[in-house]
Amino acid sequence: MSTEWKKNRDSSRPQGKRPEAARRPGGKKFSATNRPATAEDLRAGDQIVVTIKRIGINGEGVGYYKRKAVFIDGTLPEEVVKATVTKVEPSYMTARLDEVEKASPHRQKPPCPVYDSCGGCQLQHMTYEAQLRAKEELVREAFRRYAGMEAAPIRPILGMNNPWSYRNKAQLQLGRTGEQVVAGLYSPGTHKLVDITGCAIHDPAINRVTETVAKLLGELDIPVYNERTRQGVVRTIVARVGRQSGEIQLTLITAADRIPDRERLVRRIRDELPQVTTIAQNLNREASPLIFGAKTTVLWGKERLDETLGDVRFSLSPRAFFQLNPEQTVKLYDAVREAAALTGEELVVDAYCGTGTIGLWLAPHAREVRGIELIPEAVDDARDNARASGAANARFFVGRAEQLLPEWVQRGIRPDVVVVDPPRTGCERPLLLALAEAKPARLVYVSCNPSTLAKDCLVLLGQGYRLDWIQPVDMFPQTAHVECVIGMQRIDT
Ligand code: SAH
Repeated sequence: MSTEWKKNRDSSRPQGKRPEAARRPGGKKFSATNRPATAEDLRAGDQIVVTIKRIGINGEGVGYYKRKAVFIDGTLPEEVVKATVTKVEPSYMTARLDEVEKASPHRQKPPCPVYDSCGGCQLQHMTYEAQLRAKEELVREAFRRYAGMEAAPIRPILGMNNPWSYRNKAQLQLGRTGEQVVAGLYSPGTHKLVDITGCAIHDPAINRVTETVAKLLGELDIPVYNERTRQGVVRTIVARVGRQSGEIQLTLITAADRIPDRERLVRRIRDELPQVTTIAQNLNREASPLIFGAKTTVLWGKERLDETLGDVRFSLSPRAFFQLNPEQTVKLYDAVREAAALTGEELVVDAYCGTGTIGLWLAPHAREVRGIELIPEAVDDARDNARASGAANARFFVGRAEQLLPEWVQRGIRPDVVVVDPPRTGCERPLLLALAEAKPARLVYVSCNPSTLAKDCLVLLGQGYRLDWIQPVDMFPQTAHVECVIGMQRIDT
């Protein structure tokens, strides 16, 4: 649970008429007329009645009990709910939903049968329209709280017409129930594997692949890995579809070099799943949460998966990162292109460039693109992608954005446009300072975390930049994630 929402800024909290502080056994029920004097008197196990005000950054409902924030999963704004306190911290509480006393008109029955146990989605109990409004509100709240903006220039969020079947990649753990091999996800904080057959946010083509491969592993009696005993071979199935090519890249992640009956498995997969164009094996013996290990071998088929996004061509090795929702990625990158406002003359720096997608999106409209990325393999992929797209004016460098950019500026390399797309933690301070030094005419900030975005934006506003607009994009419908692009311009040059 986040501790970001520390201060209670909400004055419309529920008011208890007859505060009652003294004698309070644990597990007591507190209604509107029977309530402890302060939230500090509450303990885990007490039942409270709360009105939900908004959706928090993890998709939970946020309400207030005696001025103290209460986070309750599965609740919606404007609902009145009964909940049992599960944790009391100095600045917030968490509680478990017992009963919805007054339901929101935006509440719906989650379409997914394993919504509660899987943990992959957080907002399926909310209509899609309401999800979009809640995400806009999350962004608004972040800019209010962290940038002090009461009316941030937020554009309407870009949602999906069909907010299902959008994920182009599945990454499923394997387990056994009796004779059957199950492919699924671990329920959060547990070792319980939830079977997510037919997952409604996955592309149906990859569901077919993961389900068929799990079935074949069972039929051929190939041992699946057991997290507890650390015995067995196949740990994870990764299936990725190229939306343009229709090709499917399948990777089996194994804890041992040798897959028993490998030839037969490959033959059966080829027979039953003709769309699969690559069958690869990746070896990961470690007991770490990382999915992929270092060594990948193609057992059959093509080395790489071909994919196209707009005019940009990608050639993806099994481990290469690629955006999970291509349809929305195009909208995101188009917003980046709009903010960059290129004429063909500019030097663009794509900081935190990953596999170079944003830089390559902009390259046809710029004089030169220079990407900076920490992970050398991603830079290799970026260079491959540049070659596949014929982008001769894009170059990619391994390094830390906060080190390389200041170095370039010192050497007299002055970007006209800088795009940053940092991890959730936001930009490092030295990078923000280097931007003040480099003085690009335009800054484009892509972010998956509205809170760090708003904080960094505030710093940039103090460094001679103006905020033009904030464009939220719904990259992951049914989940609490929200991505934003902001466009900034230099006002004092
Ligand atoms: N722009 C990319 C993805 C960005 S994800 C796209 O649209 O696909 C953020 C990237 O920043 C990751 O690839 C991560 O490896 C990289 N990164 C993290 N810290 C960094 C740093 N200090 N300097 C440069 N890159 C960094």
